[in-house]
Amino acid sequence: MPGFEFWGAEERKEVNDVLETGILMRYGFDGPRKGHWKAKELETEICKTFGASYAQLTSSGTSALTTAMAALGIGAGDEVIMPTFTFVASFEAVLGVGAVPVLVDVDDTLTLNPAAVKAAITPRTKCVMPVHMCGSMADMDALMAICKEHNLVLLEDACQSIGASYKGKTLGTIGHAGTYSFDFVKTITCGEGGAVVTNSEDVYIKCDGYTDHGHDHKGVDRGADLHPFIGFNYRISELHAAVGLAQIRKLDKFLEIQKKNHALLKGILSQIPEISFRRLPDPQGDSCTFLSWFLPTEEIAKGVVAELKAQGVLAGNFYWFDNNWHYIRKWDHLKNVHTLNPQTEAINAMLKSYATKQFAASDAIMSRCISSAISLMWTEEQIKEKGAKIVEVVKSVLKKQGATA
Ligand SMILES: *Cc1c(COP(=O)(O)O)cnc(C)c1O
Repeated sequence: MPGFEFWGAEERKEVNDVLETGILMRYGFDGPRKGHWKAKELETEICKTFGASYAQLTSSGTSALTTAMAALGIGAGDEVIMPTFTFVASFEAVLGVGAVPVLVDVDDTLTLNPAAVKAAITPRTKCVMPVHMCGSMADMDALMAICKEHNLVLLEDACQSIGASYKGKTLGTIGHAGTYSFDFVKTITCGEGGAVVTNSEDVYIKCDGYTDHGHDHKGVDRGADLHPFIGFNYRISELHAAVGLAQIRKLDKFLEIQKKNHALLKGILSQIPEISFRRLPDPQGDSCTFLSWFLPTEEIAKGVVAELKAQGVLAGNFYWFDNNWHYIRKWDHLKNVHTLNPQTEAINAMLKSYATKQFAASDAIMSRCISSAISLMWTEEQIKEKGAKIVEVVKSVLKKQGATA
């Protein structure tokens, strides 16, 4: 899955270019930087690779989401509809612009259930934010139709699905804006970093200024820039951008390996009729960063995850084990409104409602789901061994629980 698995001379060369000039900042110092503009180059590369008109690099995927929301005009009083299964960054960014995160159920695509989105729309709804989890896509046709009908902003959190696509378009480039994360464990990494992509010049110009204290980047030097609106510092450094530049050039290779390893593991697990797989609205577009699969019941899944853990096979379950970061059941800090600073009444009321609100449809999916991260480093032997172990464990749990003859 992560780009750091293929770390090497290419990254070192790009970083050394920056170290040799000593110009670690992406703006200004035109002479001393000796022609090295790593962040700008990476933005051009992102546009080319993903088919976006504009890209704005940021310090992280989280700040990319915050930036995108600000540029799309989302703020105080607005509601943002988002899934119960995501990473905490998604709701942090909503709260970061003063908007209200409205969590709704996921379906067997592991992301927004369009019917749940529809049911959650109120006069205050401003944005729908699908999160393309674990390398694959939401049902974008359905979500686009809803946004069009209700005149809503569509913001794609594609942080985990770099290189995945839907009907020929790269995830992130379909809605009004999309975001990527280049943190250390994502498909390609800068160490830390992120990007907003958009096809709107207006949104792009706002992102450009917002990530750099509102600078319009039109002055003869930084001091002479004007500030048409208030911004923050969400800049990426040249060092981080340099790493990303080497990484994005290897993306095709990463995806090719992921797809090969994913297909092999999926083939092995497909032998078991009781195992089903995540529904993909466009199977061709899967980046194959994860293989996400379901067992027939929560009890069976629990047994399988426990046994896989005992045998040292990383199972990837977001529901009871392993992970406090990706599913609403584990977000006590959200549900108990553990914020450091006071929030608006609208936010407090919504967060408090999550303490008791049930997400039975999401639970029914997530409690049976195992997401196996696909490593770039696995050999064919290792995949066969891992697959065989999983098959053995699943068979034995099915038998023990009387779920199969
Ligand atoms: C990683 C991630 C982010 C945030 O990215 P950072 O670069 O770590 O801030 C946002 N959304 C999702 C779904 C992610 O997985």
